[in-house]
Amino acid sequence: MSPRVTSKTRVLTLLGDPVEHSLSPLIQNAAFRHARVDGVYVALRCSAADLQGVMGALARAGGGGNVTVPHKEKAASVLDERSEAVRRTGACNTFWGEGGRIHGDNTDVEGFRRALRSFVNGPAEGLRVLLLGAGGAARAVLVGLLDEGVAEVRVLNRTVERARAMARRIGGARVRVAETPGDIDDQDFDLIVNATSLGLSAGDPQPLDLERLARAGAVMDLLYGPDGTAFVHQAEALGIRATDGVEMLVQQGAVAFERWWGRPAPLDAMRDAVAAVRAR
Ligand code: NAP
Repeated sequence: MSPRVTSKTRVLTLLGDPVEHSLSPLIQNAAFRHARVDGVYVALRCSAADLQGVMGALARAGGGGNVTVPHKEKAASVLDERSEAVRRTGACNTFWGEGGRIHGDNTDVEGFRRALRSFVNGPAEGLRVLLLGAGGAARAVLVGLLDEGVAEVRVLNRTVERARAMARRIGGARVRVAETPGDIDDQDFDLIVNATSLGLSAGDPQPLDLERLARAGAVMDLLYGPDGTAFVHQAEALGIRATDGVEMLVQQGAVAFERWWGRPAPLDAMRDAVAAVRAR
């Protein structure tokens, strides 16, 4: 929360269902405090039927927020002004009001790009990448990978048709869909990105047995947990450099902060807020 909530305080919300698990209120309120902006960020469980009304009312009142599972696609259809990232992914995770219109962006794209660049220590140009998943997060990752100039993306998803649809929408010559898990056996990849939700529930299988590959240069898991994730642990046990999704979470939040407040986000304060929770 900002030091004092008054009638001028902007209300930013996380809209989704469920929202209780989210770290975004913690990260954004820490950022608001640190940057001394007059805003408060709250999570609001919201049904699909209520989404349009809530987004419109908040935006008209000078506020905005984030949108999470399962409403990112629906949110894109509610907007009056769509960023290029929204148009390419068909999803919106950040919105705000401006001149009486609802503006929206998908900051998962830029958040992923920033996290990727920091993980690979520079541009990701020329990399051969295996992308696991074809849901909303995978679409943002695919756009980010292509914009970073990777050489090739192989997509592996449980539902092949969903992967094909994603490749048709976003792809191009650099994107190829693996028809079966066997298609990637003994292949060589510089980077594996897990954008499936496998690992969220206890007892989930690993998204991929990394030993099937001839080489896995590095692993990025979009999931995060207090002590990394099972996929990150699998990679590290095989001597593969790996990271979980916390930096992407912070970076997509930082881009959202920039959209709402028109100034750079206090990244260190946001990272510290996450680290404090993870240390508990
Ligand atoms: P989504 O749209 O529901 O997509 C889920 C993906 O996981 C689909 O590819 C789905 O495959 C796959 N999947 C689910 N259960 C599976 C199973 N039992 N076996 C194999 N594949 C399975 O979700 P999303 O929005 O893309 O989010 C995916 C993950 O990314 C979530 O865990 C989310 O928390 C994380 N995420 C992290 C960040 C961050 O900032 N770190 C940002 C966004 C998302 P099918 O197509 O076959 O169903």
